[in-house]
Amino acid sequence: MNAKNLKIAVQRVVLIATLAVSLFFTACNSEKDPNPYGLDLITTTEEYLTSIEADSANFLIDLEDHIPGILLDIRYAGTDNFTETKIYSAPKAYLRKEAADSLLKLQEELKKEGLGIKVFDAYRPYSATLYFYEVYPDTTFVAAPWKGSIHNRGCAIDLTIVNLVTGEELAMPTPFDEFSERASYDYIPEDSLILANRNKLLNVMERFGFEKYDYEWWHYNFSNRKGMELLNISFEDLEKLKEE
Ligand SMILES: [Zn+2]
Repeated sequence: MNAKNLKIAVQRVVLIATLAVSLFFTACNSEKDPNPYGLDLITTTEEYLTSIEADSANFLIDLEDHIPGILLDIRYAGTDNFTETKIYSAPKAYLRKEAADSLLKLQEELKKEGLGIKVFDAYRPYSATLYFYEVYPDTTFVAAPWKGSIHNRGCAIDLTIVNLVTGEELAMPTPFDEFSERASYDYIPEDSLILANRNKLLNVMERFGFEKYDYEWWHYNFSNRKGMELLNISFEDLEKLKEE
């Protein structure tokens, strides 16, 4: 092989290696694309802080800090959820400012009866919505990732009512995240106490500005959510912002 041929051979090897490496990274990136549907998504703390500067209503409030006596049972922070996987790194519940303020008033109202709220989930980073649909691709019970969830907008909450003294949950038609017809508001429980409990939740939520989701007794959307964008900010990043 003369010097010219050797140079051509080396160039070919370099070209093939470059192509292989770039194909490998393209494949890796497409697997982990955080926004495969090209949604308007807030993904960095800088973008999130800019949105708060533009409108303070965008602020995500830590419900545990904001609402005395609130109970959390954040199922996606453990393995006791339909994915059987720990999705969140921390058991945190955040909602946008106005929704959090409404929930504070709601808790004060329930307290008069010796009752309070227990939260299963509130703000949910968009990455979790993508994963949920992979595990359970049924858009009745899991948000369509090409639209995003109202949880991703910090305007939805999954919750129940508890006795404040004992901490026990009021009896409801199903456990949280039971994806069945019995979870629907169309289902009429035989037990009148269960029906009354579900109605108590519905009535108090509607009085404080939340709307029910027909297929899940535990899921409520805050009515005034206009302009609230989809977010993919992690709980760690929200915690870091609180420390700054
Ligand atoms: Zn929900």
